[in-house]
Amino acid sequence: MFKLDIKVKNFIKSTFYVCIVSLFAGMGGYLLGYNFLAFFLLFAAIQYILFSAISSLMISFFVEKTKQKELDKLESLSTILNCAYCNQPNLMTFLPENTSRLELECDSCKKKNVVTIGFTVARITEMVNVPSVTGIPLEKI
Ligand SMILES: [Zn+2]
Repeated sequence: MFKLDIKVKNFIKSTFYVCIVSLFAGMGGYLLGYNFLAFFLLFAAIQYILFSAISSLMISFFVEKTKQKELDKLESLSTILNCAYCNQPNLMTFLPENTSRLELECDSCKKKNVVTIGFTVARITEMVNVPSVTGIPLEKI
């Protein structure tokens, strides 16, 4: 409900501005000896076309950015796996929402591979308290 109010408000505001600008354009046209209403309508139409073009451009720009972000996220979840049949490398992307059995269709031999995920553990690298070049010892964080 609140969101709708903002939309309605914005619509009224932009329509108001369009009307004001068109009014001035119409008056200018009238002073130059042209039809007031024709100028008014012409400028209103031009503004609506311009604004809708700008807004659609903005939307497509943001959609593109969001898509790129999603792709960047997926990139970290991708790996190259060799096919178990022909040993050809294949790019595999793990989707977090994919809870079913992981399968990979080989790009070259079209056979299906079952992918198993293994977890490994490692120690976190700890800072060694070695004096730096300037003689000031490194502090532990
Ligand atoms: Zn293969």
